Amino acid sequence: MSDKKRKKSFYLNRADIPTKALREQLLYIYQLMFDHFGDRHWWPAETREEVIIGAILVQNVSWASTVKAINKLREQHLLTFKALSQSPLEIIETCIISTRYYRMKAKKLKAFAQYLEEEFSGNLDACLAQPMNTLRGQLLAIYGIGPETADDILLYAAERPSFVVDAYTKRIFHRLGYIEESIPYEELRQWFMLHLPENVALYNQYHALLDATGHHYCSTRNPDCRACPLLNICHYGAATG
Ligand code: SF4
Repeated sequence: MSDKKRKKSFYLNRADIPTKALREQLLYIYQLMFDHFGDRHWWPAETREEVIIGAILVQNVSWASTVKAINKLREQHLLTFKALSQSPLEIIETCIISTRYYRMKAKKLKAFAQYLEEEFSGNLDACLAQPMNTLRGQLLAIYGIGPETADDILLYAAERPSFVVDAYTKRIFHRLGYIEESIPYEELRQWFMLHLPENVALYNQYHALLDATGHHYCSTRNPDCRACPLLNICHYGAATG
């Protein structure tokens, strides 16, 4: 399909787009962002434990604040669940103070460490090797692990094809004209997984590119549409630009 035809089809009623066309459009959106930002090399971590710790700490806070906390945990040799389980709560709290709700997050880290110890004798590889839906169910049952954190862990630590949805994903696809911004998390996750090829590398990069687009351009107020790689296919951008 030529770019011209593709662009035109974006302005149809998007609720009625056939599955094949929607798949092409989602891949086109991906390509626009990839051409603009390149490989995001996400998730930036040295170990799978660090990915999980980062996924818990980044809840409701910027990545920059999370990095500060991870560096402090690293300095204290607390970047493993074994070390976290043996550390007093107050020491963990002090390390992660930059991440807001740090008292709650220290308890969440402890809860994950406890789950790992009790269910898998601390063996993270055995934990992450479980079937995807079994693991997802277990993660969601741990204190402090919601759907976005569970899918971060599945995709970036366990390398399973579980699409991650966040506030940027909802805002961007709402402004592009595909969804209501109030769409439930699970519904939007399933929508992506139904229409995109099941591919860990693609899901990994797609989420990272949406984060970059949201962070750099698609802010809640005053989005920078003129610089955004999605401007030419965006309902909101066309209406406000
Ligand atoms: S063009 Fe504007 S509204 Fe559309 S995705 Fe980009 S920044 Fe958001």
